[in-house]
Amino acid sequence: MGCHGGRTFLYEKLDMKLVILDRDGTINADSDEYVKSPGEWQPLPGALEAIARLNHGGWHVVVATNQSGLGRGLFDVASLNAMHAKMHSMLAAVGGRVDAIFYCPHAPDEGCRCRKPEPGLFEQIGERYGMDMFGVPAVGDAPRDLVAAVAAGCEPHLVMTGKAAGYRGRALPEGYPADTMVHADLAAFAEYLVGQDAQPSQAADL
Ligand SMILES: [Mg+2]
Ligand SMILES: [Zn+2]
Repeated sequence: MGCHGGRTFLYEKLDMKLVILDRDGTINADSDEYVKSPGEWQPLPGALEAIARLNHGGWHVVVATNQSGLGRGLFDVASLNAMHAKMHSMLAAVGGRVDAIFYCPHAPDEGCRCRKPEPGLFEQIGERYGMDMFGVPAVGDAPRDLVAAVAAGCEPHLVMTGKAAGYRGRALPEGYPADTMVHADLAAFAEYLVGQDAQPSQAADL
């Protein structure tokens, strides 16, 4: 009886309100030249405030990001840490928080299990938090983000920023999971997710 003519809101059954976000193109501006330094790490408009909104709605936010620039030798872990220090600092200034950042440091030819579209990062998050990833909302801008999320059991949400910005107002190309939910940007996603909490009847499992 949990289905009301549409989507059942699976997260109502989760141990903890956890949401997983991609980084580049979802939280900050992506670059074909890679984001290699704190100076190049620039938040998308409204993205940090969106994370704060999720937090205030009781959601823990974790980042899962491919950072093959490490494996390609384009930047080092110290630079990555400095980018993330900037992100944490800018988030704190707007009352937001990311609990953890899980990243794949490998180059594509290393055949690892953590580079999206492989589900390894999501599995690591599940192990860290001791929870099943089934129904956990996961947000990204690229097909591989959502393919990885679905492979781990997560609920796929696309933001039309970053790699997906060109598809606004048009049909999505092949490659996105069939049940992908689409949002204009991270702020629209946050509004959606927090808004669902305000409608308890939506997920009532009587
Ligand atoms: Mg991305
Ligand atoms: Zn990896």
